[in-house]
Amino acid sequence: DASTSAAAGSNDAASAAHFVFVPLREQGHLIPAVDTALRLASHGAVCTIVGPPSTASLVRPTVESAQHSGLHVRLVEFPLDYATAGLPEGTDNADAIPLQHMWSYYRAMALLCSPIESYLREHTPYPTCVVSDFVHPWTTELASSLGVPRLSFFSMCSFGLLCQHNLERFNAWDGVDDPNQPVVVPGMGEKRFVVTRAQAPGFFRGIPIRCWEEFADYVERARAEADGVIMNTFEEMEPEFVAGYAAARKMKVWTVGPVSTYHQTRTTLASRGLRKSAIGHEQGSVVYVSFGSISQAESKQVVELGLGLEASGHPFIWVVKNVHEYEESVREFLVELEGRVAGRGLVIRGWAPQLLILSHDAVGGFVTHCGWNSTLEAVTAGLPVVTWPHFTDQFLNEKLAVEVLGIGVSVGVAEPLTYQAVKKEIVVGRGVVEEAVRSVMGGGEEAEARRRRARALADKARAAAREGGSSHANLLDLVKRFRPGAARDASAASEFLPAAMALLPSC
Ligand code: UDP
Repeated sequence: DASTSAAAGSNDAASAAHFVFVPLREQGHLIPAVDTALRLASHGAVCTIVGPPSTASLVRPTVESAQHSGLHVRLVEFPLDYATAGLPEGTDNADAIPLQHMWSYYRAMALLCSPIESYLREHTPYPTCVVSDFVHPWTTELASSLGVPRLSFFSMCSFGLLCQHNLERFNAWDGVDDPNQPVVVPGMGEKRFVVTRAQAPGFFRGIPIRCWEEFADYVERARAEADGVIMNTFEEMEPEFVAGYAAARKMKVWTVGPVSTYHQTRTTLASRGLRKSAIGHEQGSVVYVSFGSISQAESKQVVELGLGLEASGHPFIWVVKNVHEYEESVREFLVELEGRVAGRGLVIRGWAPQLLILSHDAVGGFVTHCGWNSTLEAVTAGLPVVTWPHFTDQFLNEKLAVEVLGIGVSVGVAEPLTYQAVKKEIVVGRGVVEEAVRSVMGGGEEAEARRRRARALADKARAAAREGGSSHANLLDLVKRFRPGAARDASAASEFLPAAMALLPSC
């Protein structure tokens, strides 16, 4: 039942490594997975990206443009079986899947195992490696049935992954009842990093519904059994943590980032998408503000943030998602604010061309929620950051930016907005926003030193991705190591599917 966009069947394709990417639909997972596939394809690999139509539609233009430039990459759609998974029809077409349907969505994805396997058996070239987002543990069965190795894909930093892993393996939470009690992360070397359980609960941990705990165990097993890890980070930024994670997991780690460097059209892109008001500003004067693809600020927070930006006196580009979901008073506030800051402030309502904005010379700082992709994109653009974590790995990414790399100023949020599926009202006041923006964007020795560190890091990031760099070498190694010949004998999908599904019971 799969429908394909373009093919990857040519003579060279038969002797090339063929990576099958199984990404998650969330942009923070999907974008870097596709960029990684395109970077591998740029080095001669064949890449097949699989997923439901709602996922495919988000990346089709990017994939098609790569096909036009001659890369062997294909995008294959597999319709979800909504009824069997218990997922309301079309739920996955919305911007975000509501938490109450997430479980069924993961079930629906697991049900794609068999159709994906059949497709891969029927189409040449035969795969040589499955690259799975770590949230799809059932790909263990897919890979073993196809008789090929499986790599876990993370768009996260090694620092955060190692912190999380060590907190779990050294039982750091034993005897700690208060989720806001700070503990020192064990096994991180000389440096001392302090976190709370609420800041680093572990993947899928802490949701007070039994099936999620079981799912978390299943995900952990699949991570432990992987044949290696592909990570969107680069060695020179965090060498001790890359090595530390590989050693702790006893697993090869290929750092391939920053994968956003696949997009090389900086100059031409910089003239598109931005309004004149931003381009007209002097170099490094504009602060870009965005909380990524999932986080959505509460009404009160929108107002405080807007007033803080206004009071900072700095030009800004502020991305506000789903404006239609706010009450009228907030929408009016935004219009009035735009009137007051006309010529120096721009509110983007909806999806922003983030990479393009960050690469523009006028931008000099980034107020970020510390999603890993945004953090790494800031690093790649050489920008200091105001760190404002919301949840998941963002608190650990903040620590990397502020405490390890020295390129961030924290707004001081200590608790996640959501913990154990319960939302918390945390509002950062306008004064705090103003001060943080001034300290990152302003003059003074400290701010200059931060900017110098950010620029030096960007040079390292670009060098890592270029020929001769560590990430470039790792991509070449992947393409070489997973050439045909390594595939083991295959068994039938029917043997494993019930087992995989048994691990994903109704919830
Ligand atoms: N992004 C974008 N425009 C937007 C919001 C996000 O291009 O308006 C991109 C951003 O460049 C990054 C990804 O979406 O590559 C978001 O990933 P991140 O890990 O930063 O945060 P998440 O969305 O997962 O919270």
